Amino acid sequence: MRLSVSSTPLVLRTVSMKSLNLRALAEYEKAWGSCAGFFNVWRPQTKRWHDLKYVDLSMALSNDTPVYPGDRPPVITSNSVFEKDGFNSKHLCFVSHCSTHMDAPYHKVQNGKKLDDYPVSDFFGSAVVIDAFNQNPIEPDVSAVRKGDFVFFYTRQTDKAGTPAFFENPPFISEKTAEALVEKGVSIVGLDSFSPDGPPFAIHDILLGNGVRILENLVNLKSVVGKRFECVVLPLKIKDADGAPCRVVACLDD
Ligand SMILES: [Zn+2]
Repeated sequence: MRLSVSSTPLVLRTVSMKSLNLRALAEYEKAWGSCAGFFNVWRPQTKRWHDLKYVDLSMALSNDTPVYPGDRPPVITSNSVFEKDGFNSKHLCFVSHCSTHMDAPYHKVQNGKKLDDYPVSDFFGSAVVIDAFNQNPIEPDVSAVRKGDFVFFYTRQTDKAGTPAFFENPPFISEKTAEALVEKGVSIVGLDSFSPDGPPFAIHDILLGNGVRILENLVNLKSVVGKRFECVVLPLKIKDADGAPCRVVACLDD
């Protein structure tokens, strides 16, 4: 079935860049407007949803999904099986911060915003993926980042998920970088690792304390590193959510 949200064909634009820089962003803005948020870049064109390319940036949630040290692992069992009951269903039991997931301010801030406090439009936005491989602390050039962006750091740490090395020498975001991103007014900061920091979690406090949501355990950033694209980040709609597993999808037109 073909999806069209109106009679006018719609398009999403993606910018490919060897590395994000001001010149490339200027070209992007020239082509797509200075406020190229998710809805601002809709243009009458020939492409529709099914013409776009999609990259799934989410981990699968299973009993084998690695969890933050000390957290209870997921327990997924059969609730019913086709052979016996005539239908299949599962019983899911997992911590709200497992697999690819979003942290709400409420995770670390008393009376902070919960995921279900955000309008659904806040889960669609313009994302940039910055190469931070071999950086620890993560402190790349963030001059190309704009207000409202979803900023993802490519560290390759989740390539090691399922092995002991996943938790060894994890890359952490520097306070300088976290403060610079807050200053820019970004919406979400994510990375392909299990956490942007370790105890006492100063980076969580800087970001969540300023209303910036965090995405952890992203995967497949290799295919989108250095790009700007429209991104959909949809957490499970859990009441009073401090965090929730998310489906994160990059929408590309190149
Ligand atoms: Zn978390």
